Amino acid sequence: MAQTFRSTQDYRALDVAHHVHPFTDQKALAGKGVRVITRAEGAYVWDSDGNKILDGMAGLWCVNVGYGRKELVDAATQQLQTLPYYNSFFQTSTPSQIELGKVLAEVTPPSLKHFFYTNSGSEANDTVIRLARHYWRVKGKPTKRTFIARNLGYHGSTLAAVSLGGMSHMHALDGQLLPEFAHIAHPHYYTQGAGLTLEEYGLKMARLLEEKILELGADNVAAFIGEPVQGAGGVYEPPPGYWAEIQRICRKYDVLVVADEVICGFGRTGQWFGSQTYGIDPDLMPMAKGLSSGYLPIAGVAIHDRIWKEINEGGALAHGYTYSGHPASCAVAIANIQLMRSEGLVERVREEIAPYFRKSLQELAASHPIVGEIRGVGLIAAIQLVKHKPTREIFTTQDDAANFCRDVAANNGLIMRAVYQSMVLSPPLIITKAQVDELTEKARKALDETAKKFG
Ligand code: PLP
Repeated sequence: MAQTFRSTQDYRALDVAHHVHPFTDQKALAGKGVRVITRAEGAYVWDSDGNKILDGMAGLWCVNVGYGRKELVDAATQQLQTLPYYNSFFQTSTPSQIELGKVLAEVTPPSLKHFFYTNSGSEANDTVIRLARHYWRVKGKPTKRTFIARNLGYHGSTLAAVSLGGMSHMHALDGQLLPEFAHIAHPHYYTQGAGLTLEEYGLKMARLLEEKILELGADNVAAFIGEPVQGAGGVYEPPPGYWAEIQRICRKYDVLVVADEVICGFGRTGQWFGSQTYGIDPDLMPMAKGLSSGYLPIAGVAIHDRIWKEINEGGALAHGYTYSGHPASCAVAIANIQLMRSEGLVERVREEIAPYFRKSLQELAASHPIVGEIRGVGLIAAIQLVKHKPTREIFTTQDDAANFCRDVAANNGLIMRAVYQSMVLSPPLIITKAQVDELTEKARKALDETAKKFG
C-alpha cells in the first residue's frame, strides 16, 4: 500500500491525538506540533512543508552511511522476499545471521569475535549485565554483581539500562535506581580541570573508579561501563591516560571492562570502534546504531574470547529476543559494513573529513563570544555555550539558550541537538566539505541569534 501523504496540519493533529513520544514534553508542543520528516537523501532530510534540512545528527547518531543508500534497501528487500523471519533460538540459524558474524569479525578488535544480537542498544546493555553476572557465577564468584558507570553516561531506556546510565532526570521517572548500580563522576576538563594538566586530571578522574571499587568491595563489583566518548550526556572525550588508568584499575581488582560503542562504533571516532581510538581492550562491547546505519533495528554485544570461553562452559544461555539477529536486519548490517569498507568511510573520517570538521568548529569557537569550547573527536562534537567566556560561566538551564539555538538552527535548515547547555553534532560520515561549510555557517547564524537574546 502506498504511503498516505497528508498536510502538515493533518499530520500534527493525528500525532497529538495518538502518538506518545520519547523524551518530548508534549504539552510544550501545544499549538505548534511536531516537525514531520517525510523523506531523506544523503546528508539531508525534508519535512512535510518541503523544507530541506542538513541533518547534523545523522538521525539519532546512527545514519552513518547517509540516507537513500540503495545497497541497504536492496539487501532488506531481497532478504524479506527470501526469508522474512526465522529465529536463532534452539539450535537454528539463518544465512544472514551467520554471514553477519563473519563480516563483523573482520572489523572488530582482534579478540572480540563472538556476537550476541539484540534489537536495540538498550537491550544490548541489558544483555551485558546478564552476561557479566553469569560470567562471574560460572567463575565461582557469584557476589560480583554491581556495575559501576558514570554520571551523564547514557546506556538506554530499559529498566536496567536506565539504572546503568547516569542521567538523573531518567532516574527520577522511576523514583529510584535498581540495586547494584553505582556511579562515579565523568571527566570534563574545561569546567573541572583548573590547576591540573590534562593528564593529571585524567588520572584523578579515573582513580574515582578505584575509590568506588574499594567502597563497594571488589568482591561485589562485576564491571565498569563507559562510552569511549560520552555521547548523549553532552560529548565528553576522555582526557589522555584516562582509559589506560581505568583498565589498570579494572584488571587489578578483577572487574570487567565494558566499552559501550553504541554511538562510537562504526567509524564515528575515525576508527571502526572508539575502543581502537583510545586503546581500550573491552571484555564486552555493546554496539548498535551504525551497525545498520539505522536502516533497520539491530544491535548486539561483542564478547571477548576469554569471557566467551567461560560463558560457553556455563551451558545454555537463558537469554534472547524473538528478533535476535532478525534476518532482514542482519542482511542490512552486512550491506552497511560492506559499503563502509568499499567506500573507505572510516579512513575518510579519520584522514579527511573529521580534521576539516574539527578545524571549522575550532575557528567558529575562537571567534564566537558565547562558545566556550569544542569537545569530541572524529565526527562527534559538542559546542559548549557560555554566558561569560573569560570565566567559563555556563548558561543555566533556566536560560534555555541551547534549546533556543537548536530551534533557530532547525528553522534555518540545520539539525543540531541541545544537550544541557551544549549544541551537539554527529553528522553522517558521508558529509562533504561543502556540507561542513554549510553546517558551520548555519550553526554560526543560530549562535549569533542566541548571543543576541541571551548574551
Ligand atoms: N548506549 C549508548 C551509548 C547510546 O547512545 C544509546 C542510545 O542513544 C543506547 C545505549 C541505547 O540504544 P537504543 O536507543 O538503541 O536502545
